[in-house]
Amino acid sequence: MSPTITRHPDGATLMSFAAGALSEPLAAAVSAHVSMCAECRHEVRDLALVGAALLGDAPASRGPVAAPVRVHESTSRERSARPHRERGDELPAPIARKYGLTLEDIDWTRLGPGVWQHKLPLSPSTKGELYLLKLIPGCRLPVHGHAGAELTLVLTGAFSDATGEYRRGDVLEVDAGTEHQPVADRLEGCICLIAAEGPYILKG
Ligand code: ZN
Ligand code: ZN
Repeated sequence: MSPTITRHPDGATLMSFAAGALSEPLAAAVSAHVSMCAECRHEVRDLALVGAALLGDAPASRGPVAAPVRVHESTSRERSARPHRERGDELPAPIARKYGLTLEDIDWTRLGPGVWQHKLPLSPSTKGELYLLKLIPGCRLPVHGHAGAELTLVLTGAFSDATGEYRRGDVLEVDAGTEHQPVADRLEGCICLIAAEGPYILKG
């Protein structure tokens, strides 16, 4: 189904997602990956079922069961939307639905040579950012660190950093303190969905 996806969010991130415990920007990016990735969809469903079973075992606590069950239902809906994803050049269904967007009609803002951004609004008072980033072929971002967790999901093309190459559907997760320098594919460039809990820290 998603044979080209080789890099997934780590287990702890999927577990937090299934429990509804991720921050809003990270949850949006994980939800987008899950809509593209059968493997993680199954894992999230299993984690949600385990969570529901654990909560169900606790006496007099039927209320919290609702949260994991909602995750299960939303992944079922995403599965039913699968035919839309086959073109391989579209926004993931949860993002397209929530923001009423397609990749073709995005109003990009130029950030610098070869770098374009489109911010996706989050709930008021939410910390962090969610945005689309477009890099022209061969574009090299500055070396930077992060003030919080950052999750990058590739939508078109590819990029690489010291940890390897990332293509459509692949996820790169970095922690606060990690430094890296993403470089867009020399032929295709890339468009990514990026969820960041804190700002970039530029070096030098
Ligand atoms: Zn996955
Ligand atoms: Zn980064």
